[in-house]
Parts: sequence; C-alpha cells; structure tokens
Amino acid sequence: MKTFKIILGDITTIAADAIVNAANTTLLGGGGVDGAIHRAAGPELLEACRTLNGCATGEAKITLGYRLPAKYVIHTPGPIWQGGNHHEARLLQNSYLNSLALAESRACRVVALPSISTGVYHFPLDQAAPIAVRIIHSFLETSEHVQEVLMVCFDEKTKQAYEKAELAFRS
Ligand code: ADP
Repeated sequence: MKTFKIILGDITTIAADAIVNAANTTLLGGGGVDGAIHRAAGPELLEACRTLNGCATGEAKITLGYRLPAKYVIHTPGPIWQGGNHHEARLLQNSYLNSLALAESRACRVVALPSISTGVYHFPLDQAAPIAVRIIHSFLETSEHVQEVLMVCFDEKTKQAYEKAELAFRS
C-alpha cells in the first residue's frame, strides 16, 4: 500500500532514502531549505554539487546525503513566481515529477519533499499545494520502488495548505 503523508518538521532530520532540496539553478547553496540541507549535510555536499554544473528550473540532479540521515539529496530548482504567466505551474510540476522520477530510478522507497517554490520564490501556497498533491498522487499510481512520499512542511500554515489540497483531491 503506497502512502502520501503531510507532516510538520525539518526535512534535514528525516531518514528517508531521498530528500528533495528546493535549490537554485547554480546548485551551490542558498537560503531556506537549501541552506539548512547544506549545513546539515556538511561541506562534502557542496563539493559534490560543484561537479554538477548547475541545473535548469524544473529539472533535478542527485547527490549523496553525506552527513544527513537520508541516503540521497535530489536537487531541483523550482520556478520563481513572476505573476503566473511564465509557465510557473508547468515548471513546478516538472520539479516534483523529475525529482520523484530520479528517486524511482535509484530504487528509493521513501522520499521526503519540501514545499518547493513557496518560500523565497513566492509561488502562492494555495496554488502550489494542489499542483504538488496532484502530481505526487499520479506518480504513486505507477511507481514501482517509491512506496511512501512525505510532504515535510516547515510551518503550520504550509501544512494546512497541503492538508486542504489533499482533502480537495480526495473529494
Ligand atoms: P524556494 O526558494 O523554492 O521558495 P525556500 O527554501 O525559500 O525555497 O522555501 C521552500 C519551503 O521550504 C518553505 O515552505 C520554507 O518554509 C520551507 N523550509 C525551510 N527550511 C526547511 C526545512 N529545514 N525543512 C523543511 N522545509 C523547510
């Protein structure tokens, strides 16, 4: 039985097979969840990211997790919100789907995701959450290795937005 869970927490503490990093296109670290992941993983993560030559928005690249409890970190730059008419929704879908596909290709069983693009990148939470929920459920319908996806929300407002989107999806 596959499961999708929405939890409150710090993604750097999650012992998943892979955690997803809401990175920027340089992959060389930043603020928010990206900074937290780099601090917790240690300098080896930045060394590994330097060899990847960046990553386009909506694409995903993988490294080891180094000092993190997670085995892998999947780095994806989500879209920066520019009003909604710059393919933001499609790019956000791509970030989730390409991250999950990469986890599947490495035979991950449990994958933890943050709320991509809804921090510094200002994607409206009430629009991002339904996109994420829909794409995660459709991915889980056909995945062979990935059995559990955790949406790790850093604050209560974010958790409530994903719970609302999940309820709407199920009804
Ligand atoms: P983006 O640039 O994609 O908007 P941010 O890191 O600014 O990325 O924010 C994305 C989401 O990650 C926000 O909801 C933010 O509160 C959350 N976040 C920040 N730190 C953590 C963490 N340690 N674990 C999980 N989520 C986090």
